[in-house]
Amino acid sequence: MELNTDNSVSVAAGAVCRQRTLANSGNDAFSFWKLPETCRPGLEALIEESERNARHYLLEEYLEERQRQPSSILNHYYRFKRFIPEGVRHRLNSIAIRNRRRPAFPDWPCEDALLRVWRLGLAAFMERLETQDMWHLGFWPNGKSCAVVLTHDVESPQGFAAMERMAELEERYGMRSAWNLPLEQYPIDWKRVDELRARGFEFGAHGLRHDGRLFRSEQDFKTLAPRIRRIARDHGLKGFRAPSTLRRAQWIAQLECEFDGSFADTDIFEPQPGGTCSIFPFFLDPTVVELPYTLPQDHTMIHLLRRDPLPMWIRKARWIASWGGMILVLVHPDYCGKGAYLEAYSKLLEYLSQIDNAWHALPSQVAQWWRERNRAELHVIDGQPMVRSDHDGVTPRLLSQEALARWECRA
Ligand SMILES: [Zn+2]
Repeated sequence: MELNTDNSVSVAAGAVCRQRTLANSGNDAFSFWKLPETCRPGLEALIEESERNARHYLLEEYLEERQRQPSSILNHYYRFKRFIPEGVRHRLNSIAIRNRRRPAFPDWPCEDALLRVWRLGLAAFMERLETQDMWHLGFWPNGKSCAVVLTHDVESPQGFAAMERMAELEERYGMRSAWNLPLEQYPIDWKRVDELRARGFEFGAHGLRHDGRLFRSEQDFKTLAPRIRRIARDHGLKGFRAPSTLRRAQWIAQLECEFDGSFADTDIFEPQPGGTCSIFPFFLDPTVVELPYTLPQDHTMIHLLRRDPLPMWIRKARWIASWGGMILVLVHPDYCGKGAYLEAYSKLLEYLSQIDNAWHALPSQVAQWWRERNRAELHVIDGQPMVRSDHDGVTPRLLSQEALARWECRA
């Protein structure tokens, strides 16, 4: 694999081609809704147009190229970061964030631009097909109405020690979560990891360390990516999230992860602000499912905005559930592993556990599901839906059952 200066990827002969094409992205409106294959002929131009419209948001193409990678100012910051005590760092970041001009786009904490793309794409298909209602494949298995996914990045040995308290809390609500570990930031007790795995939790890679290097330059990426791949392979880590969510979308697939969580739907407070506007999984690349985090991070609410995170978490979770999307939590045991913030996390879990008909799943299960659903085919014969799929949770539903499809929005 070769990384070119324009961020495109040259693939060695014989290697699997990871280049995205319009035809196979799985992110067009027809694939998003999973409409009957029998309806596809005649819609090709509309499908391609919807793919371009979705990609504008999903790959943050509304940002300038230089904003879709770590900035040069950040690179200077990381040179001095380790000399600044943590408390001082939080205070400086908080002042910087509160003085930062709010971008015109995306909105925060809720941005519905991509939902409009999905809705308007569907409206165009239905107009062309001259129909008021149609079958599609449900967004979640077995007719579930939304998804709830819990993830954590474990930044320090103190965070690692606090995992048990959070794990016990989640078990009390019958939930399990994923823990992402920075692989060279502190010594990892892999025996402890295996113990938590045996209880149903899962683990992913959170890069090597928070030094801003991984996506800084082609040279850095070429040096560090093989180390991440090797450690992830040795320890069975299938998911990835970039440290500090500093990222370059085109390079992530080269880490050979099955799914990624380095993007938010909207996060204007991160060192690399932006967002995919997506409250559903999508394909970052034909091989990688992206699972954007969709609730504001605990770190953002507590240390940057200095606000009680719970009201915002509940407000956003309610909004996502109302559209049937994916509530993906990113909370750190380092900040929420004890005291009042653990209490707030407990209240969030209580709220999430009470959402009617929600699918509680691990990131690996959601990524696998999104692939299976994308592979499945819906056919309608004599008005009756027929599903071709290896996954028995794939369920046909009428669009009139979906809040997102019923939503009237203007172009
Ligand atoms: Zn982190």
